[in-house]
Amino acid sequence: MQGFDESTIRDVVQSVLGQLNGEAAPVAPAESCTAKPGESCGCGCRKGKFGVFQDAAEAAAAAKDAFLQLKPKGFAARAKVIEIVKGLCSAKAEEWGKLELDETKIGRIEHKIEKLQVISGIPGVEWLKPMGFSGDHGISMEENAPWGVIGAITPVTHSIPTIAGNIINMVAAGNALVVNPHPGGAKCATIAVRAFNEAIAREIGIENLVSIVETPTLESFDALCKSEHVDLLCVTGGPGVVKAAMASGKRAICAGPGNPPVVVDETADLAKAARDVILGGGYDNNLLCIGEKQVFVLDAVYSKFLDAMERAGAAKLNSRQIEALSSHAFTSSGDGGGCSKPVLNRDIIGADASTLASRAGVSVPEQTMMLFGETDAEHLFVEEEQMMPFMPIIRVRDIGEAIAAAKKSEHGYGHSAMIHSLNVANLTEMGREMDTTLFVKNGPCLAGLGSGGEGYGSFSIATTTGEGITTPKTFTRFRRCVMVDNLSIL
Ligand code: NAD
Repeated sequence: MQGFDESTIRDVVQSVLGQLNGEAAPVAPAESCTAKPGESCGCGCRKGKFGVFQDAAEAAAAAKDAFLQLKPKGFAARAKVIEIVKGLCSAKAEEWGKLELDETKIGRIEHKIEKLQVISGIPGVEWLKPMGFSGDHGISMEENAPWGVIGAITPVTHSIPTIAGNIINMVAAGNALVVNPHPGGAKCATIAVRAFNEAIAREIGIENLVSIVETPTLESFDALCKSEHVDLLCVTGGPGVVKAAMASGKRAICAGPGNPPVVVDETADLAKAARDVILGGGYDNNLLCIGEKQVFVLDAVYSKFLDAMERAGAAKLNSRQIEALSSHAFTSSGDGGGCSKPVLNRDIIGADASTLASRAGVSVPEQTMMLFGETDAEHLFVEEEQMMPFMPIIRVRDIGEAIAAAKKSEHGYGHSAMIHSLNVANLTEMGREMDTTLFVKNGPCLAGLGSGGEGYGSFSIATTTGEGITTPKTFTRFRRCVMVDNLSIL
């Protein structure tokens, strides 16, 4: 029988393990392979093959090369890329949704799938409209030019959907991307990016239009911030990464954290308000940055609203059970100065309501979408962005107290807020006071991103830096091209 050397056996084992994980089989570079990292070589090795890199600097360089190749191919090539990304997200919604849930272990399978299906509605090249001027002195055209390579930092809460949405917006505007995904969702992100690049290479002959760091770290983030090839950052995540990006010296579009409050006044349709809070706050187990996180209800309808929540299928916890859940949801960490501050327990974010209930010492039916209970406005579940389906409900005297408490709980993030009311003055007052990017009246948070409300969606809502719900235009540079002459034929 023929003997095998150690490296052959290692290659075979690696290949089998890769295939079991749903990855394209990694192949060692052939001896004859002279390609530099990031170059297409044809021997099938993983030196940057189809956008997947170990090294952030190499990933950025390959994306720059891809950007230069995209430029002369025009709008038709950009539109083809978008068609590919939307098509793959629809076709693979179930497979990739399951992959993402298996890896991240947070959220709900039906919503992981749905978040990939709604990618088809994200705006593409049609969004970019030039503006023209014509007169006695000639013509001017204002156009939306690309930046070049955009460094995209993506969250664990929606790993593949954020990357897919970013690709559509950014490539529509003529850019290439280099992605530093959250380490907790990097495997599924890499699988999707490889699939996008394979199809893009096949259709338009560019290989690393979306490059990704396969094993992301804080160092790889740093390398992207320092890379001469990265022209702009787009960060989607919590306060830590937003702060780091803004301190990097590169221009950054920051889709930062939220802690969206809800106000329910005495004129509201309480049954609908309860259903909307459960739908929005329970979506993907409250992982959405726009998701309802705490509800301030006027005294006059407080008890009725609690009843409406139960009738709509949410399960009520008593104060002892809420405290038991809090002790699992938050820990304290010393800041070195003798003070301690609450830290969200990442192990139970995005857990099912039934899992949270068992931590609270109670059993609820498995299909329960949400737990809720009475707390005061200072409770940790109100202060912190909990990202789990427990909804604190706070009793307030009047609309003034409700809006003030809602504003305080939002921490000035300027992200999202909701109100349920038929009183126009209350709707207007809260909208003015909150000054948030999204403000939804009489609907679930999802309506703010075009799901059950008017408008379009995105998985990166640039709240911190103010660009708002990102579109292709967000990722362009303004350019005016002027021709001075006697051109008018009027
Ligand atoms: P996270 O901040 O833990 O991670 C986001 C990304 O930043 C990841 O890629 C992570 O690896 C990286 N990162 C984290 N800290 C970093 C640091 N100090 N330096 C460099 N990189 C760092 O967030 P998450 O848990 O993945 O996602 C949830 C958070 O993101 C919530 O706060 C949510 O509100 C926010 N979010 C906002 C939007 C939006 O559109 N505004 C969308 C989704 C999520």
